[in-house]
Amino acid sequence: MTARITIKAERDKPIVNQHPWVFSGAISSVKGNPVPGDIVDVFSSKGTFLARGYWNEKSQMQVRILTWHDEPIDDAWWFNALQRSIKSRPSQGMARLVNAESDYLPGLVVDRYGDWLVLQALTFGIDLRKERIAEFLRELVKSRGIYERSDVDVRRKEGLEEVKGVLWGEEPPALIEVDEFGRKLLIDVRNGHKTGYYIDQADNRRTFLDLIKQESDKLGRELAILNLFSYTGSFSLHALPYGRAVNVDSSRDSLELAEKITQINFPHPKQDELAEYILADVFEYLRDTVERKVQYDLVVVDPPKFAHNAQQVDRAARGYKDLNLNAFKIIAPGGYLMTFSCSGAISPDLFQKIVFGALADSGRQGQIVRRLSQSEDHPVALTFPEGEYLKGLLVRVF
Ligand code: SAH
Repeated sequence: MTARITIKAERDKPIVNQHPWVFSGAISSVKGNPVPGDIVDVFSSKGTFLARGYWNEKSQMQVRILTWHDEPIDDAWWFNALQRSIKSRPSQGMARLVNAESDYLPGLVVDRYGDWLVLQALTFGIDLRKERIAEFLRELVKSRGIYERSDVDVRRKEGLEEVKGVLWGEEPPALIEVDEFGRKLLIDVRNGHKTGYYIDQADNRRTFLDLIKQESDKLGRELAILNLFSYTGSFSLHALPYGRAVNVDSSRDSLELAEKITQINFPHPKQDELAEYILADVFEYLRDTVERKVQYDLVVVDPPKFAHNAQQVDRAARGYKDLNLNAFKIIAPGGYLMTFSCSGAISPDLFQKIVFGALADSGRQGQIVRRLSQSEDHPVALTFPEGEYLKGLLVRVF
């Protein structure tokens, strides 16, 4: 018997509006004895069917909704849901194939890197079904193997341990080679950040590449590029034929890989003429750069998530302000700042205000040339605004 979850009278609106999370506080009663991962039915206080999803009483989000229709959640349902998501993405190359809640598959992330898929199971309901999901993925996408990167701390909130390893097929190589806009990338799916790479920034790297080409053409000289929080150096990789880049990150492994990636793309005998890789804290590095009075044509600021929840917003805002203030100070007149925040708790509006504050304090002038967000393969379901986390601004600075 499918357990029956009844929602408090005043709490059913988000569910009717197809938001996928049912918090414990919204539930008035549970009929039946569901165990974590079980499919449960969700009813309104008046007894009307609202939705069906998977249960986990250990999580604050006790039900994650899979459908708002009275339809069975069987193998065919999972297969169709996966197929719909995968079909909406490019059929080849690096891409996020399944973007969890925003693809109506809460808790499931699937990324493709060349011949390999990487799966992340963020919830109990998905963890329980991951082998079956892997079977469906094998049918839907040609791959040599599916690697699991469920080594994320949010799993603890679901009562799950962190795990990683081969879920199906071959062991992936230490570094998977993939293409990004004609350049070769090397992805470490075992130890790299996220599932190995920041796919969500690909569209913005494209924008950066176009901007660099345009500026190099206009100025008729090499550009000076500063890539802050560089990870494996992708933003500057695309800029290298048009200038010299300084990459700064606090992760030695990421910088070593960045250097390797540059070498395979630009086998120049004097690598240090192309780019520098600096192991440093960006906050300190920026302060030092301001003191040294060095200037750059283009600066990228792409920090990690500073605010993990609403309580951390103020502190995060101070962090973003500090970074952007110092970044504005070191941009040559007519140059550009490409600045980001991937904190979901910071709205695009607030981010713009922070950047405005930084600009005002720097004594410079600036124009927003473009608003930036996560790549197209990281869609945001309109019913799930939480899915929009990455925001950025491209600012021309005078
Ligand atoms: N721009 C990158 C992604 C950046 S992710 C890309 O396009 O691929 C954020 C990076 O910031 C990570 O590589 C992390 O190692 C680094 N990082 C985090 N805190 C830092 C700090 N205080 N100083 C320098 N780097 C930091």
